[in-house]
Amino acid sequence: MGHISSGDADKNAYDVIVVGSGAGGGQTAYTLAMEGAKVLMLEAGRRYEPASETPMMQTNDQAPLRGASTPEKPFGFWDATIDGGWQVPGEPYTSASDDPARQFQWWRARMLGGRTNHWGRISLRNGPYDFKPRTRDGLGFDWPMDYGDLAPYYDKVEMLIGVYGGEDDLENTPRSSPGVLMPAPKPRVSDLLVQHRARKLGIPVIPMHRAVMTTRLDHQRIPKLLHPGNTRAQAILAADMQKRSACIWATPCGRGCSIRANYQSTTVHLPPALDTGNLDIVTDAMVRAVTKRADGKAEGVIYIDRKTGAEHRVKARVVVLAASALESVRILLNSGVANASGKVGKYIMDTVGAGFGGQIPLLENLPLHNEDGADFGHMYIPWWLYKEQLAGKLGFARGYHFEFGGGRLMPNMGTASGLEWLNGGTYGRKFKEDARRYYGSFVYFSGRGEMIPNEDCFAELDPSVKDKFGIPVLRFHWKWSSHEIGQAAHVEKTAAEIIEAMGGRYARPPQSGEKGIKQGGVIIHEVGGAIMGTDPKSSVTNSYGQCWDMKNLFITDGATLCSNADKNPTLTIMALAWRASDHMLGLMKRKEL
Ligand SMILES: Cc1cc2nc3c(=O)[nH]c(=O)nc-3n(C[C@H](O)[C@H](O)[C@H](O)COP(=O)(O)OP(=O)(O)OC[C@H]3O[C@@H](n4cnc5c(N)ncnc54)[C@H](O)[C@@H]3O)c2cc1C
Ligand code: SF4
Repeated sequence: MGHISSGDADKNAYDVIVVGSGAGGGQTAYTLAMEGAKVLMLEAGRRYEPASETPMMQTNDQAPLRGASTPEKPFGFWDATIDGGWQVPGEPYTSASDDPARQFQWWRARMLGGRTNHWGRISLRNGPYDFKPRTRDGLGFDWPMDYGDLAPYYDKVEMLIGVYGGEDDLENTPRSSPGVLMPAPKPRVSDLLVQHRARKLGIPVIPMHRAVMTTRLDHQRIPKLLHPGNTRAQAILAADMQKRSACIWATPCGRGCSIRANYQSTTVHLPPALDTGNLDIVTDAMVRAVTKRADGKAEGVIYIDRKTGAEHRVKARVVVLAASALESVRILLNSGVANASGKVGKYIMDTVGAGFGGQIPLLENLPLHNEDGADFGHMYIPWWLYKEQLAGKLGFARGYHFEFGGGRLMPNMGTASGLEWLNGGTYGRKFKEDARRYYGSFVYFSGRGEMIPNEDCFAELDPSVKDKFGIPVLRFHWKWSSHEIGQAAHVEKTAAEIIEAMGGRYARPPQSGEKGIKQGGVIIHEVGGAIMGTDPKSSVTNSYGQCWDMKNLFITDGATLCSNADKNPTLTIMALAWRASDHMLGLMKRKEL
């Protein structure tokens, strides 16, 4: 059994150092440890035990301010994030511009498992076009791989973590291999109405893909597929899979899941990896820099014990950065390594975010029923206008998908607020009647679109500001292009059309893209900053996240993504991390690292 400790690491006993324990670090440590490599994971945040710390069942009336959000808890009192948020005390970042439209917001979590403890679990694959966007429309960069290279790893990750979804096979929205996905949960009433009316507009509505287990994992079949020929790994994984339950359809996933029914690094990747005895984790270990050997290879890292301020050095054959895309960029810049191309920090991207909602009289006064389900979306709208997009008919490149919400979920503090545009404002008995009448009759469409990398979006070291550890911080530059702004306007216009097709109404008309688009970073899908490519002059790594200038330094978080398809990035980060880890294992076996 590997151990988790705080502060000091066993100095030189490891093959690989992995920095960060979220989706990228968790997947990397899992693959390496299960296949026999000795791994040290360094995590800046504190230890976190989902089984004992997850407030899954608490109701809002048990929380201060009835669970409402505060600057310290931006996503509400019960949100799983610890020591994190838009601002982390003592760890600032800065912006090159005073204009809010040109500022970047950076969400960080400082805890074991990082943001995977509270992410939305939406797990969409990139499609074939998403790997070759430049070939398709001449913008941005093609990936140094194609869909076929990553498809087997998408299958593996989906089988390991447990993803529900449908069998649809639409243009650039690929299906998983047979037997990989779990059945999707039943659509809610509002989902069915959206599907029925959107279909009339030629818009598809299909089951969402989320990392939530709607059934138990097949512990007899899956371990053999994931670790062929490795009976020890198979036995460890089979035992661990039996400890994970299926979703009980009752509690918001953002609080985390103590029964391990959804994906968090802390409940899925780390337990079996620790059981191999090949993984040790040191928490409260803030990595400052990668150190260099005389031959130019990575020697190890320097980290600071967050509790004592003491500085430590550890060494290994291989160093992997997975501290989240922009934090890995920061470590690279502070180390002064892997940047012969001058591209470290360049081409940072987020997802385009815009949204629009309305009220649907057909959904008023429905009979009482419980629609909590697997939290969040049971269905979604994949991008459907590929032909128009290719023909240049839309006025912007690329596209978006809609995540939409509605239904009779557990009432919260927002339920029955903001009804004035419908009832002119009511009190007492009438207000209670209105609350019951309108409860569950709202739908909201969140557009999530592709951002094309551009020269105006980058991160650099701030020349003067340092964090509380004395480490220089990042300064952000940001500017959406006309493509993203065009998408945002299209999101609002199309959502309004769907709402109208449902016989619904909205409080305000759709607005222009400049007004509708969220600030950079707000969708919390930041990627790029150390992009992969085929040419060392214009990219930082190869397709395995291996740095061109430092062969034993790898990056397995979102920093290497050279485009940010409309598909939420985390499943792709994990698939890439598994592929990179397989590559590392091969190189280590052949003594090439
Ligand atoms: C509310 C929310 C909803 C989201 N919903 C979705 C969704 O539905 N689908 C989707 O695809 N994505 C979603 N995301 C994004 C998703 O969480 C990230 O893409 C994913 O967690 C990235 O994994 P990562 O390993 O790169 O980073 P993280 O999960 O952030 O993990 C990085 C870890 O590295 C640690 N670290 C940082 N700096 C250092 C350092 N210097 N030394 C040591 N350790 C360090 C951090 O403390 C952290 O634990 C969501 C995010 C949020 C916040
Ligand atoms: S909805 Fe299901 S997966 Fe999500 S936290 Fe609740 S039980 Fe876990």
